[in-house]
Amino acid sequence: MNTNPSSRSITNCDVAVIGGGPGGAALATFLARAGHHCVIFEQSKFPRYHIGESLIPHTHGIFDRLGLLPQLRASAFPVKHSVRFVSHGGKESVPFYFSETIPGERARTWQVERSQFDTMMLDHARAGGVEVHEQTSIDKVLFEDSRAVGVQTVSADGARSEVRAKVVVDASGRACIIGRQLGLRSPLPELRKASAWGYFRGGKRLPGIDAGETTMFLIPGGGWFWYIPLPDDMVSVGIVADPEYVFSESDDMEAAFTREVAKCAPLADRLSAATRVGPVRGSRHLAYLNRQTCGDGWVMIGDARAFLDPIYSSGLYLALGSAELAAQCIDDALKNNDVSAARLGAFEPALWKGVDVVRRLIHAFYDPNFSFPKFAERFPEHRAALIDCLIGDVIKDMSAFTAALEQMTPPPPPLGSNIPKSIAPQMASV
Ligand SMILES: Cc1cc2nc3c(=O)[nH]c(=O)nc-3n(C[C@H](O)[C@H](O)[C@H](O)COP(=O)(O)OP(=O)(O)OC[C@H]3O[C@@H](n4cnc5c(N)ncnc54)[C@H](O)[C@@H]3O)c2cc1C
Repeated sequence: MNTNPSSRSITNCDVAVIGGGPGGAALATFLARAGHHCVIFEQSKFPRYHIGESLIPHTHGIFDRLGLLPQLRASAFPVKHSVRFVSHGGKESVPFYFSETIPGERARTWQVERSQFDTMMLDHARAGGVEVHEQTSIDKVLFEDSRAVGVQTVSADGARSEVRAKVVVDASGRACIIGRQLGLRSPLPELRKASAWGYFRGGKRLPGIDAGETTMFLIPGGGWFWYIPLPDDMVSVGIVADPEYVFSESDDMEAAFTREVAKCAPLADRLSAATRVGPVRGSRHLAYLNRQTCGDGWVMIGDARAFLDPIYSSGLYLALGSAELAAQCIDDALKNNDVSAARLGAFEPALWKGVDVVRRLIHAFYDPNFSFPKFAERFPEHRAALIDCLIGDVIKDMSAFTAALEQMTPPPPPLGSNIPKSIAPQMASV
């Protein structure tokens, strides 16, 4: 008998999940716990590299409900207590400690090395009863009329087969399998940012509880660098700025990154004794969204739905948060034998509203006339809501906060309004 699920062939399941990253692994864990036959198809063999290392504190509740806190506490991932901004001239802000507003352990989170973190999450899903097929990619979702009914798998040797599923979840990250297949994925012209990043061994660390902080180095023209300490004396460093700025002198990713690091004096100082390890990677177009994110028999979560900007480290939180919300709706849909878009996507209006709050804050950050200290000074009654945004607690009513924000920075165009074709009803509710 073949006991290795990765090589066992299957023909049907309750839920087929495309992608075993954090979003897919979390969703599948919740659904397997609810008794559903849930199968993850992951194209890579874990551990595999991934960008996106800084968590935000509001992930704590999800890790708790997943049962992952003991493993995270026992890990070597640096503990993140705070975020600090450093101006181009080297002036450092007072660190923003999450413990100022959040009591106890929830005020701490982690800087995660993604190959280890993602493996931890996928193994946890497996241990929770999820069937995981690694080195198995999905090249298309099967539709009958407009309802998703399964997936076409491609194994490492190129063999294709079909797996029927009651629900298909796209958790494929930036690959956006359903979004590309149905022509739903669209760049966000209002948020045109590029990024280039690399890893260094031996970068300076701050003492005490600041050792695990995320430091943001601001550069002229509205761009910035992240500096994220990782295990084994490694640090992740990346620039986010307009593509015209990053590639102003050369189209070469490594040359552009190296030049910009050298130009940012406070950052170069942190790296003065460090050695770069591995390649420089990058993305020339960070932001996109899908103008429809669920349908009959299918739903998107995490980066497969949308990605805006790394500035608030909201990506992993939104992947895990959308996974948990979608899992509740899928469980409800399966129990009621109704996998319509209306039931599967019942979580979407609230999630889009939360994403839109993050989007407004991203626009505020890149508005040269806006400053968070000035906002907090003018609207002290909204300081707590501002902090809620920075830790990720945004899937709730934030209308008073966004109204105040609009008094200091013009709101961006309505979500999805500059995307061709009609927008999804869920998004229109924002
Ligand atoms: C420059 C940059 C910096 C970032 N920094 C941060 C940060 O500091 N903090 C943060 O929280 N987020 C950050 N992010 C965002 C973060 O990386 C993502 O939000 C997060 O990884 C999304 O998780 P996911 O599970 O949705 O997708 P992913 O983690 O991308 O997982 C998707 C999985 O699907 C698999 N897959 C893809 N196609 C197929 C296929 N056809 N068949 C089968 N499997 C497939 C992939 O191999 C992958 O394992 C950053 C992103 C960028 C671009």
